[in-house]
Amino acid sequence: MQQWREAKARHPDALVFFRVGDFYEMFFQDAEDGARLLGLTLTTRNNGAAAQVPLAGVPVRARDEYIERLLRLGRRVAICEQMEDPAEARGIVRREVIETITPGAVLADSLLSERKNNFLVALVEAGGAAGAAGAGGVEGSAFALAAADVSTGELVATTAPPGELEPELARFEPAELLLPQSWAEPAAPLAARALSALGARLTFRPDWLFDPTVAAAELRRHFRVQALDGFGFQDGDEPLLATLGALLAYLNEVQSAGAANLRPPRLERPGAAMALDEMTRRNLELLEPLRPDASSRGTRQPGTLLDVVDETLTPMGARLLRRWLLRPLVLADSIWRRQESVAELFEQPALRRRVRAELKGVRDLERLAAKVGAARVSPRELKALGDSLEPLPALQALLAGAASPLLAELAEGLDALEDVRDLVRAALVDDPPAALTDGGVIRPGHDAELDELRGVRDGAREFIASLQARERARTGIASLKVGYNKVFGYYLEVTRSNFERVPEVYERKQTLAHAERFVTPELKEWEAKVLGAEERILEVEARLFAELRRRVAAEAARLQDTARRVAVLDVLAGLAQVAERRAYVRPVVHTGYGLEVTAGRHPVVETMMPREEFIPNDVVLDEEARIMILTGPNMAGKSTLLRQVGLIQLLAQVGSFVPAAAARLPVCDRIFTRVGASDNLVRGASTFMVEMNETAAILHGATRDSLVLLDEIGRGTATYDGVSIAWAVTEHLHERIGARTIFATHYHELTQLADLLPALVNYNVAVKEVGDEVIFLRRLERGGADRSYGIQVARLAGVPRSVVQRAAEILRDLEGAHSGGAVGLGRLGRRAGSAAAAADQLSLFLPADPPVLDRLRRLELERLTPLEALNLLAELQAEARGGAGGGR
Ligand code: ADP
Repeated sequence: MQQWREAKARHPDALVFFRVGDFYEMFFQDAEDGARLLGLTLTTRNNGAAAQVPLAGVPVRARDEYIERLLRLGRRVAICEQMEDPAEARGIVRREVIETITPGAVLADSLLSERKNNFLVALVEAGGAAGAAGAGGVEGSAFALAAADVSTGELVATTAPPGELEPELARFEPAELLLPQSWAEPAAPLAARALSALGARLTFRPDWLFDPTVAAAELRRHFRVQALDGFGFQDGDEPLLATLGALLAYLNEVQSAGAANLRPPRLERPGAAMALDEMTRRNLELLEPLRPDASSRGTRQPGTLLDVVDETLTPMGARLLRRWLLRPLVLADSIWRRQESVAELFEQPALRRRVRAELKGVRDLERLAAKVGAARVSPRELKALGDSLEPLPALQALLAGAASPLLAELAEGLDALEDVRDLVRAALVDDPPAALTDGGVIRPGHDAELDELRGVRDGAREFIASLQARERARTGIASLKVGYNKVFGYYLEVTRSNFERVPEVYERKQTLAHAERFVTPELKEWEAKVLGAEERILEVEARLFAELRRRVAAEAARLQDTARRVAVLDVLAGLAQVAERRAYVRPVVHTGYGLEVTAGRHPVVETMMPREEFIPNDVVLDEEARIMILTGPNMAGKSTLLRQVGLIQLLAQVGSFVPAAAARLPVCDRIFTRVGASDNLVRGASTFMVEMNETAAILHGATRDSLVLLDEIGRGTATYDGVSIAWAVTEHLHERIGARTIFATHYHELTQLADLLPALVNYNVAVKEVGDEVIFLRRLERGGADRSYGIQVARLAGVPRSVVQRAAEILRDLEGAHSGGAVGLGRLGRRAGSAAAAADQLSLFLPADPPVLDRLRRLELERLTPLEALNLLAELQAEARGGAGGGR
């Protein structure tokens, strides 16, 4: 218990898994937590004079399973091992915490998902003493981030400009965030609460750990360098240093074996990638569908862009693609570079097929390399690593003639690692066991001593086998058998009926129901030879394997570099594959303004219907037509079109081909999307508030170079408010921002903006009316929709007939009253009546009555002369026309 107390004192925030024989035991509060979280039986143990100690344990062989569950629950686990062999220890076995397993630093496959990175991210406020800055707030501050994935050896540091922390963080999908202690205070620059929304575990460490000077020392120590200039640090990079240093210090603290193979940090400068805010990631359903299918947990989510465009063949390719989608490029040159290579692999199907055939042979080289470095590799995994190197020379040869710069560069620097492959090939058998202790790991012929020992063992086994015939002859017992079991070793088995013929020298060892088992001095002697040889064999195998592992580990940096090149190649070839499979085209990406998609399709929706059923549409947004107001009834396909444009633009900036017949696309600095509150209910909170927050973020963040996709604004409030806000937002986008915009809306009133704003055009997704029915044509047409067809859609949805009929009646009345209902523009009501009053009460369709109407109402007709009436009519007409900018 004293050992346990010491371990716990050092790791107060972890559950201590305290090794006792074949179990990891938890005590006291840990036991209570563990029992509750893992469904274990809570027992107590009498601790001498002291009170009863709560106790719960998990079997050692099931440990990863339990740890996984604890990590998922955001807990961490300190593994306290027996440091001596209990058989040899004098007194109490020495125990030590050898590792703390924390969500952000895991190596075991069972705790990782293959197609996704597992990042630990450290964060400080940039500019100012780390963590100390009290003011600022998220909006105004820049932040520095460092991210490490110990399972792959990646280490990245970057800066998030003011306002872009969330997208920067999200692109790493952190499993754990490391923060300065002071951030736990409510007054911190970023309340920890805001960060916990990311779903990452929050870990706090003292602020001084984030001090740039301390951090720089940590970095130098870790990478064994005198100066850090070689890594590309510049003046003003102190915050980057601070996060990197804190990250390394923390990894060393938890003694993550993976820390040893972290590569030197890669510094990402802001400005190379597009920040994708949460709305956009969510609304465009990049990695997760808006309505997740509960049955499909895991990293391949149907209904997402990732799922459709992921044709990668290696885990590192899959991980890289995921990150590329979250990090579209914003420099035309870098987009062209990727495009060029995708195009080459697209245009040369034979090359692509052969490249992909070779890629299939490459396993998770990146993580295997990290495991070798961390001395956590099984014989089977080391073999898998060796096998993964087999296709490399062929890949190198295939790419030797590549014309596109990126492919050529990948090929040129590709280290085929033949020496490492040969090492593994020569040392390991073709199909090694998972555990070293199972034996039979090292290939015959590799080591003379091992071969000799195996010869001795096999000879002795053969001799024992031959005993059966000899003893049968000697004793005349025809049924005598030689056998072996784990507890008693080799034996001679004689059935009960033959007992009287058993010779004196036979020594009884075990009694069964119908037989007895015996040994003889001769058998024991040979058995000792077998066992002795086997023990030596395991020792020699262990030594040879360790040696092999060390030699391969020495090449970890080369392995990781190759793994990265293979990953890029895999993604490029995968994108070329999607392009062919789904008939995508190479977009012309240019640095101008115009966005022009010919026969574009929604990459995900089109895969959900039979081929040819998705109706392609053309979209043009240019200087003359910057804003598209998109009207049309519910279900017409407005949201689909809107997202389609966003996804096409995003794919283009990732370097991919796009689902269209042709496309000319600009380079956007940001893509903003927001989707109607009605689609957003899951978020809880006041949906209108959320809606306005999102709108505010877009109006603040968008520039002329952005693409803004709005799917309904103002639906969360009363109609008049809603139309007014939508109206004003559109004006602002048109007049002040100038961003390319598609605005899908129910408010067909907005179509009248086209008369006022020169670069605004109306489109609608066409429907055809046949009798009372609407047929969705899914075709984009010039001009606004005049109606919402809500009643027809209600009928389609199965609203009871009587309700639909009654709604149609009410609508006729209301339309009669307001005749189309324009917002403060032309088209006055033709007939006032009781329905108009009803309309006002219902507060449908129209904002406050136009003044003309008001005057009409107050008119006392009986007092007017015909001439007065005529004059008044002229006046009213002028007012109606002039005040509304000319009407139609
Ligand atoms: P809206 O936003 O106008 O209410 P949606 O965009 O949600 O309509 O589209 C409704 C449904 O219509 C989609 O789920 C999809 O199945 C289908 N759809 C949309 N666009 C197309 C298209 N271009 N071709 C074929 N089907 C489409």
